[in-house]
Amino acid sequence: MVFVIMGPQGSGKSTQAKLLSQRLGLYLISTGTILRDLYAANTPMGIEAEEYWSEGHLVPNDLMHKILLEQIAEHKNIKGYVLEGFPREEGQYTELEKIFKRPVAAVIDLTVDREVYMQRIESRKVIEKRKDETEEAIERRLNAFEQHTLPLLKKFEKDGIPVVMIDGTQPIDNVHQQIWDHIQSYLSN
Ligand code: AMP
Repeated sequence: MVFVIMGPQGSGKSTQAKLLSQRLGLYLISTGTILRDLYAANTPMGIEAEEYWSEGHLVPNDLMHKILLEQIAEHKNIKGYVLEGFPREEGQYTELEKIFKRPVAAVIDLTVDREVYMQRIESRKVIEKRKDETEEAIERRLNAFEQHTLPLLKKFEKDGIPVVMIDGTQPIDNVHQQIWDHIQSYLSN
């Protein structure tokens, strides 16, 4: 069983992915966090990937693929995954089931107006001091989201995978509860 959480930066997707994975007992794959941790740990793949993400570019698929295979190699006997930050573009969409070897039960799309997520990114900048939160990198990431990631929602739907839209501007607990209510019927997949 795989659940995918989608949404722009600042939509609260990483918080929601964490809450959902804990509640369902699924393994959380948060690709942005994985990339930052691998870089902080000074690993060769982490250092290579940082050249891309620190500038707001997507990390190339072959590198991302290797990183993910390494992450999941240790977790053979699990029920499934909550994916956050993956897939981010068409090639990754195609590879998803090959990498995770399980069908996608549903996609949660956290919707947030540009004004709201820009505000959230601004306040996060002060707290987290991420390398990719320069004006330029933020702009590139938003463009990448709009051009490459958003169109994937239509692909999921076309392939018969349910896409649940949730208003991500609500308080954290409400968003989580709505996700929870909506996914009940997909839990057996
Ligand atoms: P995030 O924490 O999800 O905002 O990710 C931070 C950055 O890591 C993104 O802006 C990308 O540069 C990179 N990244 C995260 N996930 C992926 C992915 N699936 N494919 C390529 N690059 C990624």
